[in-house]
Amino acid sequence: MVAPISFAEACFHVAAHSAAILSANAFKARHCDLLRALGRVLAAPVLADRDQPPFPRVTRDGFAVRAEDIASATPLRVVGQLRAGEPWPPGNPPLAAGEAVEIMTGAALPPGADAVLMVEHARETLAGSIDDSSAEASQHRSVTPQVGRTLTAGENVVPRGSEARCGELLLEPGTRLGPEHIALAASCGLRSIPVFPQPRVAILATGDELVEPSLPWPGFEPPANQEKTPIQSHQIYDSNSFALSALLRRAGAIPLRQRPALDQLDDLADCIRQGLDAAPLLLLTGGVSRGKFDLVEDVLASMGAEFFFTGVTMQPGKPVVFGRVPATATRSPRYFFGLPGNPVSAMVTFRLFVQPVLAAMSGEQRWQPNMALARLAADLRVKPGLTRFLPAHLDTSQPVATVTAVRTQGSGDLAANARANCYVIVPDNCDVLATDQIVQVLLR
Ligand code: AMP
Ligand code: MG
Repeated sequence: MVAPISFAEACFHVAAHSAAILSANAFKARHCDLLRALGRVLAAPVLADRDQPPFPRVTRDGFAVRAEDIASATPLRVVGQLRAGEPWPPGNPPLAAGEAVEIMTGAALPPGADAVLMVEHARETLAGSIDDSSAEASQHRSVTPQVGRTLTAGENVVPRGSEARCGELLLEPGTRLGPEHIALAASCGLRSIPVFPQPRVAILATGDELVEPSLPWPGFEPPANQEKTPIQSHQIYDSNSFALSALLRRAGAIPLRQRPALDQLDDLADCIRQGLDAAPLLLLTGGVSRGKFDLVEDVLASMGAEFFFTGVTMQPGKPVVFGRVPATATRSPRYFFGLPGNPVSAMVTFRLFVQPVLAAMSGEQRWQPNMALARLAADLRVKPGLTRFLPAHLDTSQPVATVTAVRTQGSGDLAANARANCYVIVPDNCDVLATDQIVQVLLR
């Protein structure tokens, strides 16, 4: 039996394999409608299709003017109106001294103008004789800036090309697409975008005590093909494979959930083989501790597995295993994680170790764990020697985020885990974290 390694060493192994997976990335890009691209990883650079903004974009409703004309509070003659989406008529001369154009947010600043006087800072008047029989012809609108109001050239206008020049790199390949990236692609006129395929991941829960959840919500009929599995008092429902399915979906992967395997060499070997055949990554839960019927490592070893680590000095998650099974005639080498059976341990180790590997398999560059700093609400005492991830509640309603550990019965306490929204990280050399101390938290 190999001694467990430190959390830092385990992260190092995971990072090294993730980097190798990423650099070997030879995924074929496929095109995806922009509306379905959320959470996918971009496979090619997105370049600005033209200058952004493509014209000097007016950012306020008001009057396009020459800024120098505003210094004196004299009326300017309003010579026209420009709405958003309306071009400056091609034959029109540029705005001359003493002139203004009524203009709306989103319109292109007309030639000759260099700033926009906000409508709130202007007073409109009608000038000329209204007695005249040709009133319309002799009467004109004028606008007078508020007394003391000044304007500098460029005010309330975003210059053409100031956000990006035509051809400039806007999104790098390997970017996990969020709403902001999708907005940027749409602003370049794109309706589809090349993305990497989503990694497929096999999930295998192990344990003789596991029963598949199959109960309908009271009052609802079960789906026609689903049998209700009776559960005995000594059995538990398999929640891990559902937790992992959800975590994988969140991470942009495709979960392939198998039925739970028994703690028997034959059944376990069959199920593991099936999982390895199905996907380039297999996530197992349970059966990796030191119990007599914890057979996962034995079965994997019998398949020639190489183990990068078998146990990490962390809590939860100490029994976690990471390794690779060699290629066979019909498939490439397969990575696997043996996650602990305890549900909280399985979820925490997924976030810390599986997610970087998944990110690499997705072609995602620069993945980082979701960490933050927060003020600890109450003392935390632990036995040193293990890096701990304690279920906790982060309150961000105050100016400084505050974190409080939740009361828990340990790594099997799914109720406490659901009440929590993060994990406080306690370094392995630490026995107390004091109230008000700034601590690191792993966000969900
Ligand atoms: P093991 O790692 O197999 O020793 O399991 C540790 C604990 O986790 C035991 O209490 C198991 O019953 C529980 N456990 C194992 N697998 C699952 C699962 N798929 N869903 C929920 N609990 C599990
Ligand atoms: Mg077990």
